[in-house]
Amino acid sequence: MDSIENEKGISPEEKSARCRENLEKAIAAVRAALPGMTLLENEPMREHCSFRIGGPVRALAVPEDVMSLARLCSILKDNHIAPMMLGNGTNILFPDEGLAELFLVSTEKLTKMFLLPDGAIYAEAGVSLSKLSIFAQQNSLSGLEFASGIPGTVGGGTIMNAGAYGGELKDAIESVVCLYVPEQRLYELSNEQCQFAYRTSLFKKMGGCLILSVVFRLSAGEGEAIAAKMRELNERRRDKQPLDLPSAGSAFKRPEGYYAAALIDEAGLKGFRVGGAQVSEKHAGFVVNVGGATSHDVYDLLMHVRKTVYEQKGVVLEPEVIILPPDYRLEDFGPAVKGNRVSFSNWEEEEEK
Ligand SMILES: Cc1cc2nc3c(=O)[nH]c(=O)nc-3n(C[C@H](O)[C@H](O)[C@H](O)COP(=O)(O)OP(=O)(O)OC[C@H]3O[C@@H](n4cnc5c(N)ncnc54)[C@H](O)[C@@H]3O)c2cc1C
Repeated sequence: MDSIENEKGISPEEKSARCRENLEKAIAAVRAALPGMTLLENEPMREHCSFRIGGPVRALAVPEDVMSLARLCSILKDNHIAPMMLGNGTNILFPDEGLAELFLVSTEKLTKMFLLPDGAIYAEAGVSLSKLSIFAQQNSLSGLEFASGIPGTVGGGTIMNAGAYGGELKDAIESVVCLYVPEQRLYELSNEQCQFAYRTSLFKKMGGCLILSVVFRLSAGEGEAIAAKMRELNERRRDKQPLDLPSAGSAFKRPEGYYAAALIDEAGLKGFRVGGAQVSEKHAGFVVNVGGATSHDVYDLLMHVRKTVYEQKGVVLEPEVIILPPDYRLEDFGPAVKGNRVSFSNWEEEEEK
């Protein structure tokens, strides 16, 4: 991960060496100030993501609560380290080589959830979307049925504006509390301020925003009808999606006016394989790990699919899955892709290609 300092005039090698030095100091400072906090070093990411792919990150911290998360971020900032958040890791491709300059912070233990006096739901970032939907159903609140089968968290789902079957989290979110790490300040943003759009949000565009909690405003419904809808949607998911194999869900965003899966299928790519990565035979929109896939297998497969679909259909597919590290560039094979980048939480301005 890049240093917060963005000095000009130093070589990438010097920058990397300085970042690693800062990271070592930060790890020592975190251990000294927060001795009880789980802090895993050189942790293989294949253990923490749904693709089951990825080498070690230098550090993975798991704060107990929001207060220790804030304390952790303050120590990291003092040491010029920008953390990246990890939810359930269901939308990330980590590199096999690992990320020696990355400090990850997991929201695994931020799981408080309760009903507010006015009937809205408060949920911390680490609550799973499935638990959130069940909680809503138990309280006869309708509006999150679509989310019950999405395997991510409230934090990851909010930054991605996750959606399915015609629903998106933006339709249920009232407000979001986030920590903006460069300023070490908390902000509460209204739904409009979050700038939600298809699979994106202000948080995704900006970087540096750690989502701590979200308030969901739902409508009154009938418990059994809500449960029936959730069952129906989850059955559809089980029927159509390769849930028995590791993946990161839909590999590509839906291009305007098309369906990515249909384009990939029509291009004859269903079942196409690179190493252990395959375009799912069950659902062409999914790339699955059929055994021992490397991040390079997945990346090469994604690029082959993009190239073939572009050549045959003239449509540019953009990955939905977040590909790390951020300096992976999408292959440029058509005018529409100019200026396009895989998004990543980063302090630095997204440079145009
Ligand atoms: C089988 C399967 C089915 C899926 N189906 C769907 C679907 O129907 N619809 C859909 O939209 N997606 C789907 N997905 C993709 C994925 O579940 C969603 O994108 C989900 O919202 C990601 O949440 P996460 O907690 O796993 O985030 P992660 O993968 O852990 O992280 C994703 C991004 O969010 C950031 N992030 C995570 N938590 C925070 C936080 N608290 N604050 C700031 N940034 C944060 C990370 O840094 C990263 O950039 C599917 C995935 C799988 C494996």
